[in-house]
Amino acid sequence: MASSILLEVVSPNGAVCAKDISMLIVRSTGGELGILPRHAPLITGLVPHAMRVKVQNQEELIACAGGFMEVTPKKITVLANAAEESGNIDVNRAQQAYSRAKARIEEFKRAPKEHEDIDIDRAELALARAKARLLATGTSFN
Ligand code: ATP
Repeated sequence: MASSILLEVVSPNGAVCAKDISMLIVRSTGGELGILPRHAPLITGLVPHAMRVKVQNQEELIACAGGFMEVTPKKITVLANAAEESGNIDVNRAQQAYSRAKARIEEFKRAPKEHEDIDIDRAELALARAKARLLATGTSFN
């Protein structure tokens, strides 16, 4: 059995990573999925989350802001709206995005009729992207 599979992560800014890995764990629109070498072909949507990449015995984290994943037996392609390897994440920026989105959501929930200007779906997605980045850097949030 093949022990590795090529993972390519691409965002609108270009290639995020291309490497041989032993396992990928992602949050798909249908729930958590683990992909091993020679996985059956698959195409799925991805929701914002920290992807777990196993390379030999090490685990690396890549923040994914949502997108699509295509799996063939030899290659996994993630087409992400945005994605960053953990070392390229600006933690301070992610914390600020998290607080901003959280405050908007709380304001909206407190008085929805007074805050019809708040796009709640947009705020929820911004919160999920910020959480993905904080998870990928091991930064706690409440
Ligand atoms: P912000 O409000 O901080 O811009 P966002 O979730 O709206 O966050 P995105 O639209 O997902 O940002 O991403 C825009 C670009 O900025 C992408 O290229 C993404 O990789 C990059 N980016 C966003 N947040 C961070 C971060 N905390 N660290 C590094 N790059 C980031």
